[in-house]
Amino acid sequence: MGKSTVTGRFAPSPTGPLHFGSLVAAVGSYCLARRAGGRWLVRIEDLDTPRVVPGAAAEILFTLEALGFCWDGEIVWQSRRHDAYLAALEQLQNKGLLYDCACSRKEILASAPHPGEEGPVYPGTCRQGLSAGRLPRAVRVRVPDRRFSFTDGVFGQYGQNLAADVGDFILRRADGMVAYQLAVVVDDAASGVNQVVRGADLLGSTPRQIFLLNSLDLPVPAYLHLPLVLNADGSKISKRNGESDNPLAGGDNIIKKALEWLGQEIPAELRTAPPVELLAWGESCFDVGRIPAIYGNCR
Ligand code: GLU
Repeated sequence: MGKSTVTGRFAPSPTGPLHFGSLVAAVGSYCLARRAGGRWLVRIEDLDTPRVVPGAAAEILFTLEALGFCWDGEIVWQSRRHDAYLAALEQLQNKGLLYDCACSRKEILASAPHPGEEGPVYPGTCRQGLSAGRLPRAVRVRVPDRRFSFTDGVFGQYGQNLAADVGDFILRRADGMVAYQLAVVVDDAASGVNQVVRGADLLGSTPRQIFLLNSLDLPVPAYLHLPLVLNADGSKISKRNGESDNPLAGGDNIIKKALEWLGQEIPAELRTAPPVELLAWGESCFDVGRIPAIYGNCR
């Protein structure tokens, strides 16, 4: 395997059965990696244990297999990678980038005049140390007052000034759990992932992840965010709110639907082909240039 081989991945959170939005990410990441002659890995993001639904990971993997996806290598389970995350935290600690934070969510919200979708920008209350009597809860990383930009394969140039737009963010939560932002960069780097294809809801997390990769001296992958699948009312489909339906139970050809969602023009003779054949078509014919850079409704 040459150094330039594309390595893509699909990283579902097992909080319920695979829903259409996740399937779009699976189809997009799979076709783009395979089209480039690359590898495609699967990682189960079962780090957030309170949200993990027992049996959901097995169900997701079963669905992927039944639809004809073949992954390379061993499946990575985030719940087994705690030591790697702690090592990364130590590396950041040694660079003086981490600090303990005593603030509760309520306190942070109270200090924010206009909290954004992801919560307010952290006002930096504990940045210079905890005041007397305050107990450490979470661990935050100090972000620099500069822009982290990248060129997304679908959405084009995207960037954020981390200090102004996000603020120092949490890497270890009050319950001891490592944050998604850290786990994802540590895992992608450890698996040699150099092409991250996922839903556009994570576009706004990417500058944080690039900052973490830079701080950990890890290579930055290529990013490609896929048009987000929303409910008819514009709300985000979530596996937690009961919106999920098992793609296999739906009856209609869900791979066809996912390819069409990604702007692909399926040849007429393949429109009624089984999922496995449609995926095989995607492996050789998927056209990245046709993916629409939109947030939209699919139902
Ligand atoms: N686990 C995340 C999800 O299911 C995806 C994370 C990623 O692709 O970076 O939404």
